[in-house]
Amino acid sequence: MSVRPILTAPDPRLKAVSAPVARVDDDIRKLIADMLESMYAAEGIGLAAIQIGVPKRVLVMDLAQKEGRREPRAFINPKILWASEETTSVQEGCLSVPDIWEEVDRPARIRAEYLDRDGTLQILEADGLLATCLQHEMDHLEGVLFLDHLSKLKRSIALRKLQKAKRLEKAG
Ligand SMILES: [Zn+2]
Repeated sequence: MSVRPILTAPDPRLKAVSAPVARVDDDIRKLIADMLESMYAAEGIGLAAIQIGVPKRVLVMDLAQKEGRREPRAFINPKILWASEETTSVQEGCLSVPDIWEEVDRPARIRAEYLDRDGTLQILEADGLLATCLQHEMDHLEGVLFLDHLSKLKRSIALRKLQKAKRLEKAG
């Protein structure tokens, strides 16, 4: 397993549309292991493969870390089957958009299907943080960042903040 560097906006690779995984094999399981290590190292709760530069439809997530536990999950070729009309607004952040947190409006509940690490089809009903996080990570597979859900004004303010932070990082 290895920790891989996480791409940050405006890296053009983050705009790529990721390709479906044809077969869940050891290469994919190795990718998942690397993604989890990279996510834990960066103290994130979710990561899409494209965030480490791999344009494949693979996500990892662990929402249990706050309680000091580890419950790693992997989602391969995830697809939303149903989304509630009811929406919820949650403050989101992203390892590819460091230090920026903004409220994003999304469906409150979803039903999704995906393949697990063994390549078995799973159906999941999600609400709360899991629903928000899954939708956020699935956006990455389409080359969409949470910033893209904001108003033009909010997005440009956030991007300016991000660029300023990057310049300071370089200078320091
Ligand atoms: Zn993200």
